[in-house]
Amino acid sequence: MEYRRMGKTGLQLSVLSFGSWVTFARQTTDHINERLMARAYEAGVNFFDNAEVYSAGESEEMMGRVLKSLQWDRSSYVLSSKAFFGWKGEGKKPNQHGLSRKHLMEACEEALQRMQVEYLDLFYCHRPDPNVPMEEIVRTMNVLIQQGKIFYWGTSEWTAAEIMEAHMVAKDLHLEGPAVEQPEYNLFNRRKIEVDYAPIFRNVGMGTTIWSPLASGLLTGKYNQGIPEGSRMALEGYEWLRDRAVVDEKLSRVAALGEFAKELGLSLPALSIAWCISNPNVTTAILGATKMEQLEENLKALDVLPLLSPELLSQIDEIMGTKPVVLRN
Ligand code: NDP
Repeated sequence: MEYRRMGKTGLQLSVLSFGSWVTFARQTTDHINERLMARAYEAGVNFFDNAEVYSAGESEEMMGRVLKSLQWDRSSYVLSSKAFFGWKGEGKKPNQHGLSRKHLMEACEEALQRMQVEYLDLFYCHRPDPNVPMEEIVRTMNVLIQQGKIFYWGTSEWTAAEIMEAHMVAKDLHLEGPAVEQPEYNLFNRRKIEVDYAPIFRNVGMGTTIWSPLASGLLTGKYNQGIPEGSRMALEGYEWLRDRAVVDEKLSRVAALGEFAKELGLSLPALSIAWCISNPNVTTAILGATKMEQLEENLKALDVLPLLSPELLSQIDEIMGTKPVVLRN
């Protein structure tokens, strides 16, 4: 396993990590979660990702039970949660979501209880919240750091301008700005990491824990011939994702990339994940898996990474046609 420094911090994250969105509670049991997390840890994964909203708090509870059962040394792994969406579903009240001091403090406390730990290493603002002053967010995250409940704070799917505003406010207040961002990054979604955040990487420094490296499974090729039963795109409640992801224009590119991988003798999922971590601005790619075979296949990305020469990367750009165009004056 390779470990990368999370932006300008001293924290080291394994370049492949493991998350629970959709899978925990919805698709997997405690037994499967324990086997998957144990295998990931054995392979050197040291970062496990969660959020209050995943399966309405149940995903944090499940991860907590696995952590309790496996009894790993707390200092050997990095644990996260995220707040914004709340976990009370449709009936949630005004202060049960968002980034107000009230919700952030309560969400953090609840995550600690559900995961049965004394602190979170990373705590993210799961989305920006225009209804809360940036000063309130920055101060609250710093209070949580001072209280020892979190070690670093981060953002998820914030724009570059919002991240920079947080840094400017933090600097004015002599407080800590966000150390890490969690954006989507995969062969279909590149602009934020490759264009928008470039000045932040250059001028401020920022770790990234990227999500959906396989575009929810699309980049495995599993949807090329229809939607397999039991897969994420077949789940009730995820029609929005299916309609956005499983479209001919994307499938034809995945098929072409699949052919390319085959010629090279590589697995398509491993190639797609290795492509994500070939970007040095990616600290870690968070893997999702419902089955052990998937995790085993995805861990092979570590062996594919050294094969990704500049020439091979430009062939991938050519096949996918998704490299962002940067317009300059
Ligand atoms: P991926 O894009 O890698 O999708 C994972 C899913 O793809 C699996 O659950 C499985 O679904 C399928 N899959 C994975 N590997 C294989 C394989 N080798 N062969 C066939 N199918 C495979 O990642 P996720 O979308 O799950 O995101 C990873 C993590 O990122 C999440 O767990 C979460 O922690 C984080 N995240 C954060 C977000 C944010 O807003 N900050 C948003 C979304 C995710 P199936 O078996 O059901 O088909």
